Amino acid sequence: MAAVTLIPGDGVGPEVIGAAVTVLEAAGVKIAWDRQEAGAAAVRKHGSPVPDSLIRSLKRTRIALKGPLETRVGEGYRSINVYLRKTFNLYASLRPTHSFEGVHTPFRNVDLVVVRENTEDLYAGIEHQVAPGIVESVKVITARASTRIARFAFEYARRNRRKLVTAIHKANIMKLSDGLFLKCARRVAKEYADVRYEEQIVDAACMRLVTNPAAFDVLLLENLYGDIVSDLCAGLVGGLGVVPGANYGERGAIFEAVHGTAADIAGKNVANPVAAILSASMLADYLGSHRAAERIRAAVGTVLREGRTLTPDLGGKASTTGMTAAVIQAMATTLEHPAATA
Ligand code: NAD
Repeated sequence: MAAVTLIPGDGVGPEVIGAAVTVLEAAGVKIAWDRQEAGAAAVRKHGSPVPDSLIRSLKRTRIALKGPLETRVGEGYRSINVYLRKTFNLYASLRPTHSFEGVHTPFRNVDLVVVRENTEDLYAGIEHQVAPGIVESVKVITARASTRIARFAFEYARRNRRKLVTAIHKANIMKLSDGLFLKCARRVAKEYADVRYEEQIVDAACMRLVTNPAAFDVLLLENLYGDIVSDLCAGLVGGLGVVPGANYGERGAIFEAVHGTAADIAGKNVANPVAAILSASMLADYLGSHRAAERIRAAVGTVLREGRTLTPDLGGKASTTGMTAAVIQAMATTLEHPAATA
């Protein structure tokens, strides 16, 4: 039985992670959970947002299912998400984003995969005050990390029969840093003659994403652009409640939805559990339980398509627990649905 660290997280985290665990169990994925606190929940209990017991657990399991963690705006401790991704070298964030039948948005047939570099860029957290009223934030881009993430994107594209990788950048302004990122992506692209390679400046790419998302397939981005564009892409397919994610390294992975703590709806049993449940299906794949992962995705597809049990963000009146129960019920009655591949 696989050992996995379970981090319920802050805000809606415990609700949606609870849903994901129930669905994994119902799908028959056998996991020995090691439950750990992090973020604001850990500060309250242990006086630190990253308790030693959490790090010990992650060093042992190398795999986690994680809820969102609160990071205060403009004050407080630095992001624990960034800390964990850097500490465990989880350099590649993967966010499959596709339309679901039954989820109404202005777009149909969106099918994108965001590949975001996870360890450097402005998230290096190097900030200082030069003089009162003048601060600097350092953007770190290395050839090593840029080459590694580009290779991840192309390998993913090849393995999943994707046709196009688009590197998204601002190298017209940041000629050195984004210029280096592009140089590395171009060099890697030459090794993959079977996958087309394009480049887009980030502002134009955003406009094109919201007018013609079909022009994209796999998106390759640095850390900050990847963070922003992930949420934009979520907006194309029904919002943050439906987009899963995973952070992969050579020796481990953390699975988590794209969304944050959603403090405005926390504790009300109305958060959409789909993003966390689909992240759990990516965990099932990672553990080799592909059939269970497919069953989970098919059941989510059925619930969304039928539209009877939806949370308020999708226009319904169902609770988190109600929608989770509907997914489990659908798992018992449906096998696989072709549209439901996350
Ligand atoms: P957010 O994703 O928490 O919320 C943005 C909006 O989307 C809110 O209106 C929220 O109600 C809605 N939303 C999010 N998830 C939902 C769900 N499952 N179901 C229904 N609606 C949902 O973003 P934010 O408000 O910018 O950030 C809040 C906190 O979360 C911040 O402290 C931020 O640092 C943190 N955060 C953490 C992570 C992470 O741990 N990976 C990711 C993003 C943000």
